[in-house]
Amino acid sequence: MDPAGIFILEPTSGLHLEYLAEGAANIIYKPLNPPESPTTEADLRFIPDGSTQTPPPTDLQPLMIDPRLDGKLIRLRKDLSTVLPVRTSWDHFQNVVSPLFLDSQLVSQTLFKISPLVIKDLNVELRQMESHGQRPSKRNGTYLAEDESYGSLVSDMSSNESSVSLEFKPKWLVQSPSAPSESKRCRTCALQAMRLAARKDDHGAEDGRSGFCPLRLASSDRPQVVVAVDQILASPKLLAFRDERLKELIVDWILNASLLQRLKQLQVELDPVGTLEAGLATQDILTAMTLRDCTLFLRVRACLFLICQGLGLTPVDADSAFWGK
Ligand SMILES: [Zn+2]
Repeated sequence: MDPAGIFILEPTSGLHLEYLAEGAANIIYKPLNPPESPTTEADLRFIPDGSTQTPPPTDLQPLMIDPRLDGKLIRLRKDLSTVLPVRTSWDHFQNVVSPLFLDSQLVSQTLFKISPLVIKDLNVELRQMESHGQRPSKRNGTYLAEDESYGSLVSDMSSNESSVSLEFKPKWLVQSPSAPSESKRCRTCALQAMRLAARKDDHGAEDGRSGFCPLRLASSDRPQVVVAVDQILASPKLLAFRDERLKELIVDWILNASLLQRLKQLQVELDPVGTLEAGLATQDILTAMTLRDCTLFLRVRACLFLICQGLGLTPVDADSAFWGK
């Protein structure tokens, strides 16, 4: 199947895209149907790829979200020279990253086409948000790429009625091969210490950044993992996880599930020398960098019993929190 052919998102699709979050490279929207009204009813439909016909209003289904969008979010790329076109990064994910993991370990991503008119409208909205102080100030001035013709649909991993979602970037799970041999800190801890020194008022957990040590997290040593999880849960965004039972489930998952160890193994195998020494950005090094900057989601379902359910892994942008932001 041509992965680009799932549908086209056009102004006439009638969907409202609600701004949810953003990182350095992407903005995440939640697709919503606009409020029901006689004038919009005829527009509420995706245009199948290749079709130019609008069905008469009498043939339209009752208002409802397109099933292909159920439980999905829309990720759109920003207009930055450092951000690859969506099609290129999607191909890399499908062909290079995805085969390294089980499907169940990855957040699903689907490519779709998008009209530049939709992107233009969203950029107008971003500017309006800025003028009302509704956009994070550090993100102001950067907008969606209007020459991009693709976006991606990603599974919505956020918390809902039946589950809470923990997300964080595991970062470098082994010491950087480039680190001086006398280093006392790992790369992530060293960077964090530098940031804290540079910004006295930084409490270490702002912007979703939790001050945990990735080496501890991947140490397979329970007391070390407990310390790392405590550090992760210190983030103000993770109040819902400040529960001893939940914490134990997370620690158990980290110790028993294979995903973190798999990530660690791949980071070593794909970049054994260290990026600086290697000099060239080979395919393996690019993949290693992706795997040092992915976001991990741990979804805990709250039922009669608490069950550590699943998680996903998705490559995201260079330095921000969120999955896909
Ligand atoms: Zn560390």
